[in-house]
Amino acid sequence: MARDAEVIVVGAGPAGICASIQLRRYGRDVALFEGAVPGGLLRNAWLVENYPGFPGGIRGADLAALFRGQLEGSGVAVINERVESLEYREWEGGGRFTARSRSALREAAIALVASGTVPLTPRGISIGEGAAQRVFYEAVEAEGIGEKRFAVIGGGDAAFDYALTLAERNDVIIITRGSEPRCMDLLARRCDENPSIARLCGVEVKGIAAGEGALELECAGVADETESRGDEDAADRVGAREKQSRGDSGGTFPAGTRVNLEADYVVIAAGRFPSLDFIGPDLHGRFDSLQERGLLYLAGDVCNGIYRQAAISAGDGLRAAMRIERKLRGEEE
Ligand SMILES: Cc1cc2nc3c(=O)[nH]c(=O)nc-3n(C[C@H](O)[C@H](O)[C@H](O)COP(=O)(O)OP(=O)(O)OC[C@H]3O[C@@H](n4cnc5c(N)ncnc54)[C@H](O)[C@@H]3O)c2cc1C
Repeated sequence: MARDAEVIVVGAGPAGICASIQLRRYGRDVALFEGAVPGGLLRNAWLVENYPGFPGGIRGADLAALFRGQLEGSGVAVINERVESLEYREWEGGGRFTARSRSALREAAIALVASGTVPLTPRGISIGEGAAQRVFYEAVEAEGIGEKRFAVIGGGDAAFDYALTLAERNDVIIITRGSEPRCMDLLARRCDENPSIARLCGVEVKGIAAGEGALELECAGVADETESRGDEDAADRVGAREKQSRGDSGGTFPAGTRVNLEADYVVIAAGRFPSLDFIGPDLHGRFDSLQERGLLYLAGDVCNGIYRQAAISAGDGLRAAMRIERKLRGEEE
């Protein structure tokens, strides 16, 4: 049987945590669901330097642990299960959200979706049988692995940040399709200065297969220029074996050149999109109208496009909680 709450919150990343703590401060009964570990995506961040209060920065994992401690101290009980469906039913004189997870069922008049993002799985890369369990999409999945060779696929901030985390205990090669990385200069510089990180630019990964021991990455040069770029010895450092001669330009792969690289693990950082697959069909059709009526709220990365940062999410969560409180009190926005 469903249990009642005043507010259902989906996701305990910075947005959901901040909202839940504030709602608890108002004395509200919150049903906070988290499908993984409270703290969210932030647990991956190598060094968070833009969250106020931490001069010199703080590791994402440590900041997330502080968030978790504060959440526990606030008295909000986390339902540690993934919401499989969030529905809304309306009848004359009322309407209710129902959140269903594996073993919990909660109903509330108001719901806040703070479910963040999920990784894109690039369609262009075929992942062979037996390889998938060594292909990750976040650095936290590789926690505890050391002295291995990682290939990180992607050219944005996340790829370079993951590389810095992984390189603390492993050798890493970053493979980017573009001839230049798309990440912040600061991150590119830190990776370039790190002796455990190599990078190959203008190279596309076509397939990942389980080889004898290591994974085999089938790659091709795609650079517009006559050559793709990278460390002189980047390919050798991950055991590159070319299928075709690449001429005299060691470590560079002209467009069309096919190359095989070896790595023990792969991390794909090819972008992320909003995590909304649990939204039921009834709710889907009413998404906008319920938001306009102040019954459904979104906060954080799930609704922030490219503006995905912890402080923005926390602020969003706080604002959503304040708006929810006004709604529950029947006050005008
Ligand atoms: C490598 C990396 C480095 C970063 N560095 C920084 C940085 O330096 N500074 C900064 O400000 N930001 C940084 N970020 C971004 C920051 O982590 C995010 O902006 C922030 O975590 C977003 O918070 P959120 O609460 O909106 O979503 P998330 O943190 O994604 O949290 C969403 C939560 O919802 C849960 N969830 C999803 N679906 C369900 C469901 N159906 N049921 C239950 N739970 C669900 C997820 O498990 C997750 O815990 C970094 C991100 C990455 C990947």
